[in-house]
Amino acid sequence: MKPENTRAETDGLVDLISLLVMLAEKNPAYWDVVDRYVRNGLLSAQFTAAWNGSASPVGAFCGFCRPNAFGSSTMNCCSPAGAGLLADLHRLAVTKAGNEYWVNLLLDRDGPEARIKTDVHGDWFAVTITMKQAGGLVVRLPAFVSGAADVARAPSSVKFEPGLLRFGALSANADVSFSFALPHRTETFSIGGVDYRHAWRGNIVVEVRPAADRFGFFVGEASGVTR
Ligand SMILES: [Zn+2]
Repeated sequence: MKPENTRAETDGLVDLISLLVMLAEKNPAYWDVVDRYVRNGLLSAQFTAAWNGSASPVGAFCGFCRPNAFGSSTMNCCSPAGAGLLADLHRLAVTKAGNEYWVNLLLDRDGPEARIKTDVHGDWFAVTITMKQAGGLVVRLPAFVSGAADVARAPSSVKFEPGLLRFGALSANADVSFSFALPHRTETFSIGGVDYRHAWRGNIVVEVRPAADRFGFFVGEASGVTR
């Protein structure tokens, strides 16, 4: 892909993520890539709050996405594609293998197997999982969590395996919580002749400069700015 085109549709992003999901189902290492594209791409591409009180297409996905913003309007192809993928991801975020429930994506989600609640507290990503079924629980961790030392608040019985937290058998209604540290880094991409500097905390983009005048991406809880 050549990065000179400064406009993108949500459809293309949905196709990309759908292919990554197919790869992840064969090679779990790809869940980490799916997570980054969903968290920073798909979820940013959905308009979730009114802008300065004006009438806004809440729920719609961008059709003229800019490198740093929602763009000027939406399109009727993009919103159904985005919503359809969100429904697929809701289903795939937790899967069952044998007697174990596997959390593939640490995204907020309330499903029939488990409820996942996440929060960014400063430089920590906090997770609470409430089981709705009895069974084993295994959580896939983002690749930047390199070892047990990066994880806090997990129960002492948890087993840290490369890329995983294995909680063992839990009863229905059991809650487990843990946190992991979010390292800071920056990355600059040249798109259409403009350098966009992205600030990352862990796998979350919290800011992009230059910022858009309106309908900007990456202005959320983690950046301390609300759209
Ligand atoms: Zn479209």
